[in-house]
Amino acid sequence: MNHLLTGKPEEIRALLDSVDTFLFDCDGVIWHGDNLIPNVAHVLERLREMGKRILFVSNNSTKSRRQYLKKFTQLNIEAYVNEVFGSAYAAAYYIKHNLELPDNKKVYIVGMSGIQEELDAEGIKHCGSSDDNENLTDMSEMSTIKNDPDVGAVLFGFDLDLNYKKLAKAFTYLQNPETHFLATNTDLTFPTKNAVYPGTGALLAALSTPLGRKPLVMGKPEQRMLDVIVDKYHLDRSRTCMVGDRLDTDILFGQNGGMKTLLVLTGVTPAAGLDEQEIKADFVIDSLGHLL
Ligand code: PLP
Ligand code: CA
Repeated sequence: MNHLLTGKPEEIRALLDSVDTFLFDCDGVIWHGDNLIPNVAHVLERLREMGKRILFVSNNSTKSRRQYLKKFTQLNIEAYVNEVFGSAYAAAYYIKHNLELPDNKKVYIVGMSGIQEELDAEGIKHCGSSDDNENLTDMSEMSTIKNDPDVGAVLFGFDLDLNYKKLAKAFTYLQNPETHFLATNTDLTFPTKNAVYPGTGALLAALSTPLGRKPLVMGKPEQRMLDVIVDKYHLDRSRTCMVGDRLDTDILFGQNGGMKTLLVLTGVTPAAGLDEQEIKADFVIDSLGHLL
């Protein structure tokens, strides 16, 4: 539909009256990297005053909920740990509640401390991640790679220290069809202030392509993260609005979940050519900071 919100009070009132809960994507909606988007803190505060429930839903797997909270505090935004759903937490929750992983089995992590922290919080045994940050230095060391027989799942997320050793280990674990294969998200690109870089989905392809296996994906647009949120909060999806900057993750996530969708133009989606895009949001606004 792509209904452009022009800021008319009756238009905003209609949206607010039809929504009890707002799910906010973070990067590109609330902040750009480390910079808060102007007036967003004020809008969030007003929504809270109106009695709206606020939840933050991010595909970024590098942070645990506790690490997100630190960021919200640094940016002077009111937030609580149980309002934050990152893809690292969603993965830990899913492994704990939906994957029948025996107690003695471990999760091999390709990813960063956010994933380690969330698995720890759910009492899930793990290895990999920072344990394997030191890469092989010579081809002759290939034969020294040792795999742990207790690994029952591989969880793949964004990893600044991704290296050949981690890929080789994950690849070997996943050649066993009984090893579960999970990924936090599949964003192909990672837009930053200066440039667009390869995202988790691009790194993941190095593993999933030669394996011929597709992982269970936690992040948007997949519905697993929403199922976790609905399970915890008993949300009425029809009275929930997903606010995001990316059509193929956030807006598709909202649509597939039976929610209303609001696209903001402060992130990866340009205003030009919106009507030609296959995925359309219910509402569009230039910035969340201009909602009220
Ligand atoms: N993945 C990584 C590694 C990121 O750093 C980010 C944004 O910072 C994202 C995904 C996208 O996050 P979001 O869903 O909040 O836009
Ligand atoms: Ca985003």
